[in-house]
Amino acid sequence: MKFLKVISVTEAHELIRAHFGGAPPKTVKVGIDGALSLTAAADCRSGEDIPGFDRSTVDGFAVVASDTFGAGEAIPSLHTVAGRVEMGVMPDAAVTAGTAVYVPTGGALPSGADAVVMTEDTDIIKGHNDNGGVLAVRSPCAPGANIIYKGDDIKKGQRLVGAGKVVPPLDIGVLAAAGIAEIEVCKPLDFFLISTGDEIVEIDDPQASQPGSIRDINGHIISALLKKSGQNVIKRVIVPDRFDGIRNAVEEGLRLCDAVIISGGSSAGDKDYAPAVIDSFNDTGVFIHGLAVKPGKPTAVGKVRGKPVFGLPGHPASAVIAYGLTVDFYIRMMQNRSAGGNAVRAKMGANVHSSPGKLTCQTVRLINEGGGLTAIPVHGKSGLITLLANADGYVEIPENIEGLNKGEYVEVKIIN
Ligand code: AMP
Ligand code: MG
Repeated sequence: MKFLKVISVTEAHELIRAHFGGAPPKTVKVGIDGALSLTAAADCRSGEDIPGFDRSTVDGFAVVASDTFGAGEAIPSLHTVAGRVEMGVMPDAAVTAGTAVYVPTGGALPSGADAVVMTEDTDIIKGHNDNGGVLAVRSPCAPGANIIYKGDDIKKGQRLVGAGKVVPPLDIGVLAAAGIAEIEVCKPLDFFLISTGDEIVEIDDPQASQPGSIRDINGHIISALLKKSGQNVIKRVIVPDRFDGIRNAVEEGLRLCDAVIISGGSSAGDKDYAPAVIDSFNDTGVFIHGLAVKPGKPTAVGKVRGKPVFGLPGHPASAVIAYGLTVDFYIRMMQNRSAGGNAVRAKMGANVHSSPGKLTCQTVRLINEGGGLTAIPVHGKSGLITLLANADGYVEIPENIEGLNKGEYVEVKIIN
């Protein structure tokens, strides 16, 4: 009987760093629409002031603010309309004392004006709202009112997306505003996924509804987690519990991809071939076998031909936790991702016991309560997939702590 050599997650991270860390990430230029969830490889700065010209934020009339001082319902200030601004062009019309120019929302501010009065605060008392009309302004406006000045939004040279940031949807809009069509990102890593187990079958396998068969869950979850994190899944296979079959699959994975993930058969039992396969390439082989976590203990990580091969436990809940602690850590490290981003603060909604000496990962559901988030522990038998799907994330309870108290603030790592 073999045993796992259990180490702490901190030690595991140090080992992963020692084996794969240090190399600068491979980078690639992508169009901004393809940058979602990828990691910015360098600081991205604006080459322009945005907006590039002074603009009105309302539909109204550009005026000289001092003309309107003291204006009111009873005694409005009167202005001769000297023209109108069309969208998309710089106006010819200029504003001087006693005149006004109509400007639509977002239109360029005519020269000479230092404020815009909203249409709601005005009346045309003679003629039209273009040349020659007479405008009455019913309330005073301050210099700068309803104007967004050149560079108010983004200054030339300002950092728009920092190196290491995982690009979110709205940053893509900021880049578009600044005229940046392409950005340098860390090249997504290519992954090869192997689900192992004599009982594991494809979703559409006719065998799937036979007692004893289990549809592949891990391959699909891990594939989704990788894609969500911006990585590529090149191929996903199911292989029975046979040394040669698993070895061939790993061989193919190493040939095609940057990293291989095996799920199932990762412990130290008779049919747990993943560690032996990783060790069979006459290379570094397994350097982590056993994590002091619950769930997720029988996790293996090895190195073959300079590439990582992860052996995650078969139980989907354990596989997800082990993925977060090893594969996700590896991705973040390889792409120099800035910390955070996938965690939220919440108040524990109940007491939770943990296993001293182990990092306990307690799955929780998040609810909105009293203006904040409350984390409700999700309990159930460990084989239940719905249990996992009902959770929004998990809380890590450190080795040296016996549990969490209701009301205590925690950080929830989001998985769902
Ligand atoms: P193992 O780690 O191979 O001992 O598997 C532990 C448990 O997880 C067993 O009940 C397996 O049937 C189950 N399991 C393993 N791989 C998968 C998978 N890809 N999808 C769903 N369940 C799995
Ligand atoms: Mg198995």
